[in-house]
Amino acid sequence: MGSMLGAYLQAGGADVTLIVRRKELAEAYSSPGIQIKSYAEDGQAAMELGPISMRAATDVSGLDTQDAVLFMVKGPDTKDALQGAMPVIGEQTKIITLQNGIGNTDILAETIPEGNIYYGCLNMSSIMEKPGVLSGALFGDVNVCLGSLVKGEEQKQFGEAFCELLKSGGIGAEYMENVDSEVWYKMLVNLTVNAPCGIVRLRGGEAGENKEFFNMGVDIIQEAMAVAAKLGVPIDMNHLMGHVIPSAKKNSGLHYPSMAQDMMMKKARTEIDFLNGAIERLGKKTGVPTPVNTTIARLVRTIESNYDRQFFPKGTGAKSGPAFRLKINDKFCKGCGYCVKYCAKNVIRLDENINVKGYHVALVADESKCVGCLNCAHICPEAAITISKED
Ligand code: SF4
Ligand code: SF4
Repeated sequence: MGSMLGAYLQAGGADVTLIVRRKELAEAYSSPGIQIKSYAEDGQAAMELGPISMRAATDVSGLDTQDAVLFMVKGPDTKDALQGAMPVIGEQTKIITLQNGIGNTDILAETIPEGNIYYGCLNMSSIMEKPGVLSGALFGDVNVCLGSLVKGEEQKQFGEAFCELLKSGGIGAEYMENVDSEVWYKMLVNLTVNAPCGIVRLRGGEAGENKEFFNMGVDIIQEAMAVAAKLGVPIDMNHLMGHVIPSAKKNSGLHYPSMAQDMMMKKARTEIDFLNGAIERLGKKTGVPTPVNTTIARLVRTIESNYDRQFFPKGTGAKSGPAFRLKINDKFCKGCGYCVKYCAKNVIRLDENINVKGYHVALVADESKCVGCLNCAHICPEAAITISKED
C-alpha cells in the first residue's frame, strides 16, 4: 500500500522517496518504475498508472529533512520505522499514518508533537504481482480518509493539500475534521475478519458463510461499538449496516485477510494489538467489558508464541515425509511468485519462459520435498494451487 500511495502522490506532483525493505524493490521502483492497474468495486479496470520512476532506497541516508513522512508499515513495526525515519524528520515535518487499526498515533505521539500528526484510513487494497507491478482495488469515491490529531487551520490546510496531491494522482481523498468515524467503520470490519480468519484458517468469504462465525462477528462489533460510544466516536448504524458491512462482504471474497496471511507465514508479531487487542485495551480504559475481542486477542497471542508446537504440520506428516501431490493451475497462475517465496522447501519455481498471457507461471520443481504445509495454497492470490495427500 505504501508503494501504491507513493506512486499516486508522485503522479500528483509530489517529490517522493519510497523507503522499502528489499533492495530489489528499490531497484525496480527506480527503473522501470511502478506500474499500477486499479480496479473499481464492480471489477472494472478503473485506471492504469505508470510506469512511474520513483526515487527509492532501503534507508533514509543521504536524504534532507522532509515536508512529510507517511508510515505504511504494520503496527508492530511503527516504532522501529519511526526511529529509522528520525534523521529526515524536522520540527515542521508532518507525520502521516494510514496504517490499519488503532494505536499507531499513540506510538508516534510519544516522539512527535501532536500538532504534526495526521491519521486516517484507506478504502483500497493492493497486491504486488511482481516487483514494481501492483494490482489495486479502489472502493467507493473516497479512497483515502485523512484527519489530524489537532484540529486547527494549519492542519486543515496541510491535510487538504496532501489530499489534493492524491486526487491529482488519480484517487479519491478527503481531509475530514472527524475522521474517527471512518477509521472505526474500517476497524469494525477488520475486527470481525482479520484475526478470526487467521484462527479458523479460512478466507473471508468462506468464514462469512458460517452462522457461528457470523454471530461471533456480531458480538465483536457490539463490544467495539460500546467502546466507540464511550470514546464519543459517532457511528451511524444505517451507514454501517446499509453500506459498510455489505460492501465488506462483497469484497471479502476469496482472499485471506492480511493478519491471516501473517499467521500463515508464522509471523511472531501480528497486528493483533492494533485490532481486537486495541478494543481489549480501550475497553479496560473506558470500563466497557470486551470478552469476545479479548478472547480473540488472547488466542492470537497464544498462536504467535507457539507456531513451532502446533499440531498442524505434525498432523500432515511434516516429519515423516509422506507424499503430497501439488497441482498448479496454469490457467489461473499470474506468476506473482508468492508460492515460490513462501515455500520453505523449494518445491516450486517460476517458469523461465512466458506463457501466452505473458506470465512466468509457477511450476513444480521437486514434489518429493513437499511437506503439505499448505503455505503456497494459502498465499496464492489466484487460488491456483491445490495440495492433496497420497494414500
Ligand atoms: S505445501 Fe508447503 S512444502 Fe508443499 S509446495 Fe506448498 S509451501 Fe512448499
Ligand atoms: S501459483 Fe499463485 S502464488 Fe504461485 S506464482 Fe502463480 S499466482 Fe502466484
